[in-house]
Amino acid sequence: MPIIAEYKVVGYNENKEPIIDSTEECLCPECKKGLLGYRSHVRRHIRKEDTGEKEWYWIPLGKCTNKTCGVMRRMLPNFMIPYKHYEEEAVIDVLDEVITEESPVDFPSVQTMFHWKAWLQFNRDRIEGVFRNTGYTVLCFSEDLLFDTGSLLEQLRRRTDRWLKITIRFVYNSGSYLLPLRPALPM
Ligand SMILES: [Zn+2]
Repeated sequence: MPIIAEYKVVGYNENKEPIIDSTEECLCPECKKGLLGYRSHVRRHIRKEDTGEKEWYWIPLGKCTNKTCGVMRRMLPNFMIPYKHYEEEAVIDVLDEVITEESPVDFPSVQTMFHWKAWLQFNRDRIEGVFRNTGYTVLCFSEDLLFDTGSLLEQLRRRTDRWLKITIRFVYNSGSYLLPLRPALPM
């Protein structure tokens, strides 16, 4: 599920739901040879921070142009996060503690806030691995990156308030993914 950072609203359907097209070329995250060509649009919603209100969008579904691959993938604008129903802004506000359990907001719930923090913690090693692996094999950073024991995620968090968008795009566009957090099994 590749994440697109450049897109535009090209129209609205009869229910005034925005129709989004990608304005960037998107490499197929599976074969990494073909590009995702426009196939159709699919409906997807996000919940807004504070009100919890649902907003529906039509996002592009792309098909890989590499004939031996041909996979179809939803292309997610970067204000959405794979498998999360809230907008990215709500998630990062919670992770950066702009919103906390004490904040006077109805949505997301305290339970959801707790879940997102645990989800990031759960995926921390995985994210570090993707940063290092892709940085070394695709972006040609030196081996120093592989042996750097500092947290690349923490460095990114310190440098930019767009760290979550960048991380999600980095992980999913390199063909990897984050794991869902499952409740612990009863003993
Ligand atoms: Zn492909």
